Amino acid sequence: MTKNSVLISEVGPRDGLQNCKAIMPTEDKKAWISALAAAGVKEIEVGSFVSPKLLPQMADTGEIVRHAVGIDGLEVAVLVPNLKGAQLAVEAGADKITLPLSVSETHSLRNIRRTHDQVIEEAEAIADLLSSLPKEQRPHFEGSLSTAFGCTLEGPIDDAIILRNAERLMAAGCDEVGLSDTTGYGDPVSMKRLIRAVRAVVGDDHLTGVHLHNTRGLGLANVLAAYEEGITTFDSSLGGLGGCPTAPGASGNVVTEDLVFMFESMGVDTGIDLEALMATRDMVSAALPEEDLYGFTPRAGLPLGFKGAAVSVAAE
Ligand code: ZN
Repeated sequence: MTKNSVLISEVGPRDGLQNCKAIMPTEDKKAWISALAAAGVKEIEVGSFVSPKLLPQMADTGEIVRHAVGIDGLEVAVLVPNLKGAQLAVEAGADKITLPLSVSETHSLRNIRRTHDQVIEEAEAIADLLSSLPKEQRPHFEGSLSTAFGCTLEGPIDDAIILRNAERLMAAGCDEVGLSDTTGYGDPVSMKRLIRAVRAVVGDDHLTGVHLHNTRGLGLANVLAAYEEGITTFDSSLGGLGGCPTAPGASGNVVTEDLVFMFESMGVDTGIDLEALMATRDMVSAALPEEDLYGFTPRAGLPLGFKGAAVSVAAE
């Protein structure tokens, strides 16, 4: 990652689709993921290995991962709640595994039915599994600190709890930790403060990504604050799909189209062709006609003369 570029990690096929009532057919998912990659998206969280009884939208994750790993140059990420999920992820050939540890223990119990101690045990077991693999087959392993900026069930979470869990995830064998504003409670000041606090504990290189929701409209402001702190990986979702089942009215993740527009306008390269990215909205609408798609840039269109970062940087 050069100073003037960021990695946009598209989480729509996971965070987005798992919050949709209707189930996107497997072939439509494959076509959408391929189109996103063709638009220049370099990392996609394509699904999660959870019980299909709990989340039938994710039942085809194995098949989706197998499709996505065949796309040249694409980092294929998945969410796993436990060791069993990690085993399936490894079998399917995923490049990156994210284990969520909700710093709100109440939410952790509701979300993956595990206490903090139990999540750490899963992290250790996953790390053992990964270290038994040849290096080139070993997926990157992230522990994601979710509800880090507050929880709809517990409210604000003590920094001490967040920092202790960040430390424990690293000690358990994660390659890095991420910060997730699952509920859209964060603001630019809390963003900077918590990034600095967690980095002081785990080291700058072990916190490089954030996962932000736009529930209260602060998504892009929070992204910019995180970018100014040196964060280089940003999760977002096409059309702002996604949300939180316990926060009615939540408008989901940061909108990928607006996020790419912001960075490209600033001269920060995302590698993504915005027109091609926006064209994939039609694929989602066709497959999920009931879902609302958000985003300002797709509605307004690109400004006259807009060229994007790669072109303007090259011209400097
Ligand atoms: Zn999320």
